[in-house]
Amino acid sequence: MLYNSAFMTTKFNVVLLPGDGIGPDVTYEAVRVLEAVEAKLEGVEFAFVEKPCGANEYLRNGDPLPAATVDACRAAHATLLGAMGLPGVRWPSGTEMTPQIDIRETLDLYAGMRPIKLYNQAHSPLKPRPGSIDFVLYRENCEGLFFGRKGAFDPQAPEVRDIMCISRRGAERICRAAFHHAMHRRKQVTLVDKANVLPSMAYFRGIFHEVAKEFPEVKTDAVYVDAASLYLVQRPESFDVLVTENMFGDILSDLAAGLVGGMGMAPSADIGDQHAVFQPSHGTAPDIAGKSIANPIATILSAALMLEWLGHPETIRGARLIEAAVAGLCNDASFATRDLGGSVSTTECGAAIAAAVK
Ligand code: ATP
Repeated sequence: MLYNSAFMTTKFNVVLLPGDGIGPDVTYEAVRVLEAVEAKLEGVEFAFVEKPCGANEYLRNGDPLPAATVDACRAAHATLLGAMGLPGVRWPSGTEMTPQIDIRETLDLYAGMRPIKLYNQAHSPLKPRPGSIDFVLYRENCEGLFFGRKGAFDPQAPEVRDIMCISRRGAERICRAAFHHAMHRRKQVTLVDKANVLPSMAYFRGIFHEVAKEFPEVKTDAVYVDAASLYLVQRPESFDVLVTENMFGDILSDLAAGLVGGMGMAPSADIGDQHAVFQPSHGTAPDIAGKSIANPIATILSAALMLEWLGHPETIRGARLIEAAVAGLCNDASFATRDLGGSVSTTECGAAIAAAVK
C-alpha cells in the first residue's frame, strides 16, 4: 500500500465525516476500535474532530460539502468517512448528492484501493475452494467514465453522451500505485479494461505496459472487464492486484465484496499524494439505517488501512491489531451481523472488536 511516510508526528488529527444513513452507526464503531488501539500503542495519540457533510447537511444548510469541511480534511492527517447520500435528497436536476465523490476529486485522491479478503468460508456464496480470496482492486478515482458526471443534463436533448477520459498522467499514476502495492504482495498485477472496443481503453493498456517496465519483478496480465467479472467468480484466488478505470472499478468492487460476505466486509482507501480518506466501500444503506443491524467491519477495516497509511511504526502495529482482532472473531462463523446470517448488532460487533484489540 502507499504509505504517507512524511509524518514525523505522534499526535494524529483525524477528521470524522459520519454522513448519512448507516454512516454514523459504522463510523462511531470504528472510533470505538481506534480508541482501544490508541490505548495499546506507545506514545501515539488520535484527536478526532467531527465535521458536517452529506445529504442531511444539504437539508440543514443547503450545501452537502461545506468548504470548512474540505479545509478541515486538508489540514488533518487523515479523514475517516462513513457514507453519504440519500435517495430522497436530490439536486434540482434529479441526481443524488455525492459529496464523497466530490471530496476525492477536490483532494485529488486518485487511487481507490479496495482490499478484498475472505475471513470465513461461511461468508462467501461460493463453494469452498482451495486457496483463499485475498486481492486488492485499484480503481482510478478522478477521471474514467465518471469524468462527465458534472455535465449539463437536458432531458429534452435528442441524445446524451458521457465521455470516458483516460489521461496519460491519470493512467500512469494509478498503474504505478497498483504496481507499488504488488511489490509488497504476491507481485502480480492484472489490468481490467475494454481495449478490444474502446480507444481510451487501448490507450490505458499501452500506458499500463509502459509502467510495467519499471517493475520487472511483477508479473502482469490484462483481461477485458466482462471476462474479469467471470473470472472473479470462477477463480477469485488467482488474483493479487487488479487495476482499472473508475466505473469498472465501481462495479467490480461491489461484485468483489459479494465474494467475501457483502458490502459490510469491504473496506476502502482513497489515496492521493497529499491526502487520504478512508471509508467503507458501501453506501448509506437506507434500507437498514437506524436499526443497529449494519455491519461495521468494513469501516473498522478502513480505519486499519488509515493506520497503515499514516506510516508510523506504532500506527502500523495498530493496523495489525485491528486485522488480527477481526480475523480472530470471524474465525467463528457465529460471530456474524445480520448481513452475514447472524444476529450480532452493530454496537455489539464494534464492542467485540474493541475488546479483542485490548
Ligand atoms: P452507493 O451507490 O452510495 O455506493 P448503493 O446504492 O450501492 O450505495 P449500499 O448503500 O452500499 O447501496 O447498499 C447496497 C446493499 O448492501 C443494501 O441492501 C444494503 O442494505 C447492504 N449494505 C450496505 N452496507 C451494509 C453494511 N455495512 N451492513 C450490512 N448491509 C449493508
